Amino acid sequence: MAGTVTISIEIELGWGVHDLPKRSHLSDDGRRERQYLRKLLSKADECGVPITFDIVGHLLLESCDGSHAGAYPTGWFDADPGTDGEADGLFYGPDMAEAVLDADGGHELSTHTFSHVLCDRVSDDLVETELRRSAELHAELGESFSSFVPPRHYRPDNEVLRRNGVRVARYAKVKESPTVAHRFKQLTLGPHPEWEPRVEDGVLETYCTTYPSLTARTLPAGGADVFPGYRAFPLAARKLAHGRYLRRATGRSIESGTPLHLWCHLYDLSNEHQWEVLEGYLEFLADVPDDALSVETMESLAETRLEPA
Ligand SMILES: [Zn+2]
Ligand SMILES: [Zn+2]
Repeated sequence: MAGTVTISIEIELGWGVHDLPKRSHLSDDGRRERQYLRKLLSKADECGVPITFDIVGHLLLESCDGSHAGAYPTGWFDADPGTDGEADGLFYGPDMAEAVLDADGGHELSTHTFSHVLCDRVSDDLVETELRRSAELHAELGESFSSFVPPRHYRPDNEVLRRNGVRVARYAKVKESPTVAHRFKQLTLGPHPEWEPRVEDGVLETYCTTYPSLTARTLPAGGADVFPGYRAFPLAARKLAHGRYLRRATGRSIESGTPLHLWCHLYDLSNEHQWEVLEGYLEFLADVPDDALSVETMESLAETRLEPA
């Protein structure tokens, strides 16, 4: 049976945590994340692996004055610097979207809302405002989005997505762990859970874990420190284990035919330890015969599983 792998990567930079007092996982100006985006695009193109990049719409702006229309919670844009990409590379980044669209690999630019709103905590109207604003910005790049990833996994109403042109959404599921030790094993060694995509209210739902699965929890995420408990294990062993986790999850999809969806944030993969493992996995994917495995973006997953729009 042929397997399917979908890889989605969130480009959000400062917007991912603009409502939280947390920044240590990011570089100061977004330069490191841009450097790894370039490396990733180059390697993915070489290996024939198309990727879905879900981007926060505000990053598509060259500049802004720090205020945005809409029924937002008070203070929602407090962290918005109201400057431009030269001054604040974590809040503006049309260059990143252009790099994705200019690459040869058939990558997809998807949306992760306009300002990283938590969809089930705001009104449907505000979700709609965010999707429309993002759609305008994607149109300025000469394209439109058909897939959606909700910030922090908070689901919106599929009907709101559907009437704004979204055909496929990535939602997280939890596979319960009976014990802490079992959870530890699930996160580090696997197996990665298997979930069949489903159509709900006209939107194809593709499922992923709540935690980033493309990158390793046992290695630093971007510039952040790793959870101290993992440091008891040698670094080389942690890298080997995650490489095996990814290959094993892919092998299971080939055996069962259940599509596999792996994801992370761009910052997660932006250090040499994570990159080494990811680079090896992309090379592994390049070597799997096309008739055994197809690598699909979220958009192409919808094309094969939904009636034409
Ligand atoms: Zn702004
Ligand atoms: Zn996010």
